Amino acid sequence: MLSRASRLVQARASAPAVRLGAVRMASTFMTNYKKEVAERAAMGIVPKPLDAAKTAALVELLQKPPADEGKELLELLKMRVPPGVDEAAYVKAGFLAAVAKGDATSPLISQKDAVFLLGTMQGGYNIQPLVDALDKPDLAEIAADALSKTILVFDSFHDVQDKAKKGNAAAKRVMKSWADAEWFTSRPEVAKKITFTVFKVTGETNTDDLSPAPDAWSRPDIPLHALAMLKHPRDGIKGVTDKENGTKAQIDEAMKKGFPLAYVGDVVGTGSSRKSATNSVLWYMGDDLPYVPNKRGGGICIGSKIAPIFFNTMQDAGALPIEMDVSKMHMNDVVDIYPYEGVAKSHTTGEVLAKFEVKTQVIFDEVRAGGRIPLIIGRGLTSRARTALDLPATTVFRSLGDAPPTPAGYTLAQKMVGKACGRPGVSPGEYCEPLMTTVGSQDTTGPMTRDELKDLACLGFSADLVMQSFCHTAAYPKPVDVKTHHTLPDFIMNRGGVSLRPGDGIIHSWLNRMLLPDTVGTGGDSHTRFPIGISFPAGSGLVAFAAATGTMPLDMPESVLVKFTGTMQPGITLRDLVHAIPYAARQRGLLTVEKKGKINVFSGRILEIEGLEHLKCEQAFELSDASAERSAAGCTISLDQAPISEYLTSNVVMLKWMIAEGYGDRRTLERRIANMEEWLAKPKLMKADKAAKYYETIEINMDQLKEPILCCPNDPDDARLLSDPTIAGSKIDEVFIGSCMTNIGHFRAAGKMLDSFKGQLPTRLWVSPPTKMDAAQLTAEGYYSIYGKAGARTEMPGCSLCMGNQARVADKAKVVSTSTRNFPNRLGNGADVFLASAELAALAAIKGKLPTPDEYLEAWKKIDASAADTYRYLNFDQLATYNDKATTITLSPEVVAAAKKLAA
Ligand code: SF4
Repeated sequence: MLSRASRLVQARASAPAVRLGAVRMASTFMTNYKKEVAERAAMGIVPKPLDAAKTAALVELLQKPPADEGKELLELLKMRVPPGVDEAAYVKAGFLAAVAKGDATSPLISQKDAVFLLGTMQGGYNIQPLVDALDKPDLAEIAADALSKTILVFDSFHDVQDKAKKGNAAAKRVMKSWADAEWFTSRPEVAKKITFTVFKVTGETNTDDLSPAPDAWSRPDIPLHALAMLKHPRDGIKGVTDKENGTKAQIDEAMKKGFPLAYVGDVVGTGSSRKSATNSVLWYMGDDLPYVPNKRGGGICIGSKIAPIFFNTMQDAGALPIEMDVSKMHMNDVVDIYPYEGVAKSHTTGEVLAKFEVKTQVIFDEVRAGGRIPLIIGRGLTSRARTALDLPATTVFRSLGDAPPTPAGYTLAQKMVGKACGRPGVSPGEYCEPLMTTVGSQDTTGPMTRDELKDLACLGFSADLVMQSFCHTAAYPKPVDVKTHHTLPDFIMNRGGVSLRPGDGIIHSWLNRMLLPDTVGTGGDSHTRFPIGISFPAGSGLVAFAAATGTMPLDMPESVLVKFTGTMQPGITLRDLVHAIPYAARQRGLLTVEKKGKINVFSGRILEIEGLEHLKCEQAFELSDASAERSAAGCTISLDQAPISEYLTSNVVMLKWMIAEGYGDRRTLERRIANMEEWLAKPKLMKADKAAKYYETIEINMDQLKEPILCCPNDPDDARLLSDPTIAGSKIDEVFIGSCMTNIGHFRAAGKMLDSFKGQLPTRLWVSPPTKMDAAQLTAEGYYSIYGKAGARTEMPGCSLCMGNQARVADKAKVVSTSTRNFPNRLGNGADVFLASAELAALAAIKGKLPTPDEYLEAWKKIDASAADTYRYLNFDQLATYNDKATTITLSPEVVAAAKKLAA
């Protein structure tokens, strides 16, 4: 793996060859570039932004440009280099800084031009040269103009403040401009009337439809990835058939009306926050961003219902998401919306099509600022400048609203978020910015998070622990994935994060083992749902913001309480309790499967679970993980202290073993270990107040739950009993046992069932444990030999079939899977997928059909006889392989002292 510095050295190393023959190589550079442009144009897309090596070659040429290429070369430098702390930006900023200082020259770029262009680079490597230019009489005004519109200045604020205090007039102007929020007021307000052409997608669009998992490899290349948007044909959408007749042709046709397009759907963005889905929509329906190649912002997204986390991702990208009735809007209609009045009318007849209310008036400021994240950062800068200048708070921004009254009691989630905000609790509906203690990033969103971090000019994480995994791409990587495997670990560790390695296993099975009780975090995977503490998963933009700043904007959601009572009955597994939640909600009319007018009590709310306090943390994660399928904003599970202490004791050993195995960043791992040990020394857990109020309470009496529950093809909300006549005896072709919903106990249970089966399986059985530690333990206990004998296909630990971007089941296969979700086409094209427990899945693999409840119970009794052996979890403190290495690690005294101080 190359460090950032090494790669920059490599990039520069290519420059001398160019320098030797600038005129001759100029032609070569442009010839090669034009070839690339033509290749991409043949695919219907714009060229990639320039990388560091190309930028290095370009800046060499600009110093002595060939007469007929100068204009084009300059345009490339201006428009085709990513801003922020991208490596190419480093080269560009370095060159422009040298020109501004007079250390380098170009006949095409004056010193003033150089300062102006530095001002278009948003933040990062361009800031120091701009601050330096404030001292140069010729350049100071241009630098002041640029800095006034720049919000990603971080600690350079103090440099400008110091200069202002010393009497530098340009620096004083910058401070005043920041205080007056000119970065904001200089941008246009949201128009009173917006006209657009409807791009209508009926029914439910989930984020897999917008950004399909098998195309995850192309997500960082926004124009290329956008070609996969709505690739499967559906009602009114042609899919990817051919260029002339597919979805893209429909988009081109709609654009001929001469207005921007708006994405309009019944239910939009179900499934995840997936920034790549937003990127694809905005690539076709957003606005160009000046000086930022291959990215668009703004845009309008309308849905009768927009999934809350997708809504947030749209907000972060500067789009205007609005919920309204879309029944009178059809493909290619031209519509006028009046956002402040809350009305949509036909552009041709003036007929009122729908009335609406925007979620919050602040959204108008967010759109004006270019997104929720720029607004938060900019507001912070303005407030800092006003404090420095002794000015009262600004009134430029719309008010966040009065805090709701303090409730009589807080729920567990409200207390956890309160603690992260330094308060006893946070009321539902209240805006807050909780501290992000733990942030996770996985590999199909990781490269986008990296790009967002570069855009945020982040050179070090403020979140206490940021972890990167490679679980989605390790098994069958494409060349682009291999490149990510080589480059992303250093990018994360150089900023103080922890990087896993390809083949280690699933993000959550690792990240959960790094958590601190009652703390808050986030992650770029929608299943980042902590079993202890709480996580609010988010799109890669917000995840990057949380990692970089250590906080996250949050409108505290309401909570729905699910309360389990009674005792688990024979044959019932944790997975059945997971499915009992949608089952019970449907019976009470709080959840519907029908998409039109869909009801979902959990959507955008926090799912809080009580009544299963004895669960191990691994088991609790099955419940919290599946809160993603409920479209919940987050999940808490009330647990006893004993399982949490057991988990942390084990996890301390795992983290020390990681250090011994050479994982980094060591300091971050040490810090987390020290904080865990402090908690173990004085364990303390929050509980919901008795007077806490919930939006709804759903009670599930386990005494009445006597047979397994499956979620039927292809909707995780379609929960039915095994005996349901509509599914009884269904033929099964393939079975998948794996995903973050599984732990080692499931693989032992399946292994024991397979062991008692003699002969060849009539199905294709896929087995993929969540981590390499699970795989090693199962191998040591002889389970891999059982899987092999039964004819099962064992896969590398990781997401495997669950993500659908690696190996896939056969087209139109009938499948039982232990994975998280069964969205159409996720596991295989046209596949019908039942979600079920590992125990039921193993039996279905043996029988080639769904068993009857009696057959299931009979098989279950055999494994229940040895339940204590089957359902043992990986307690690393009890395993010599890990413990022996862990004992070699000593924490640094400063880290231990800091943890003690924090706990005090
Ligand atoms: S196993 Fe599936 S749900 Fe879990 S992290 Fe991987 S892809 Fe996501």
